[in-house]
Amino acid sequence: MMTSHSSKPFGKTGVLLPAIGQGTWDIPERGAGRGEAVAAIRRGIELGMTHLDTAEMYGSGRVEEIVGEAIAPFRRESLFIASKVLPSNATFDGTIAACERSLRRLRLDYLDLYMLHWPSEHPLEETMRALETLVESGKTRFIGVSNFEPEEMESAASYLRATPLACNQVLYHLRERGVERRLIPVARENGVAIVAYTPFGRSKFPREAARPGGLLARIAEKHGATPRAVILAFVTRAPNVFTIPKASSVAHVEENARAAQLTLDEEDVTAIDAAFPVEPGDAPLAML
Ligand code: NAP
Repeated sequence: MMTSHSSKPFGKTGVLLPAIGQGTWDIPERGAGRGEAVAAIRRGIELGMTHLDTAEMYGSGRVEEIVGEAIAPFRRESLFIASKVLPSNATFDGTIAACERSLRRLRLDYLDLYMLHWPSEHPLEETMRALETLVESGKTRFIGVSNFEPEEMESAASYLRATPLACNQVLYHLRERGVERRLIPVARENGVAIVAYTPFGRSKFPREAARPGGLLARIAEKHGATPRAVILAFVTRAPNVFTIPKASSVAHVEENARAAQLTLDEEDVTAIDAAFPVEPGDAPLAML
């Protein structure tokens, strides 16, 4: 796998993973946009963003097919492909069947990471047993959860016998920093990686701070980077945190990839911290 200086240990998996990967939710599924999205994913891989995040939910499976097309020219071992089972499918048999469907759409023999998309009404123990069975049968190398509170995460890990819980994928951006209070430290103590989704915050993107003269623009200028690169570097500054920005154009992917070269200094972090403080109180985990 291609690594940049920003690769770091992905939980207890023994894998070194680039801090910045690629999300795929809402990539264009048709027309010229689809072609550009495929080109963008390929460019991202060439630039070292080899961690691709998808899910059976995205485009009801069509996004997995697009990812399958995008990754086809690459050496399988150079990629880290993650997908997720829908909670409504997360019975023992349902999880196994969902994984097999995802593999077919992605045209792969195995996933690198398979996650439960969010807590489900099916017993967690049953889902974790199914995920571990998928590891034993070689259908996925590692397993994880998404949108899990610290206690839920610990409980998921407790149902695993021989496989460590690799990660918890959660909402984390400048205006949603609650995960810094407990979730990230608890994950770190337990050797669990955190994958930050929606790092740019969608409708909560900090436009003012990113405009010329704004805080993020000033920090970016100091480092010869861009405000979005500053955001990605801030979000991945803890040793166990990774992120998966989604971009559907080559230009956006190239900008995001450059963030891997950026390390913020203490002064930058303190300034961002003051402008976008961690929300007070112990609110439940936010999710999209
Ligand atoms: P995001 O990555 O924070 O933001 C995506 C938006 O930012 C898109 O509109 C994209 O535009 C734009 N963008 C990206 N790079 C840009 C650049 N360099 N310059 C300007 N605009 C740029 O939001 P997200 O898609 O919600 O989250 C990322 C990924 O996390 C998802 O794709 C998905 O894989 C995962 N996710 C997981 C969950 C979960 O429950 N586990 C929930 C949400 C998301 P273009 O598309 O036009 O490039």
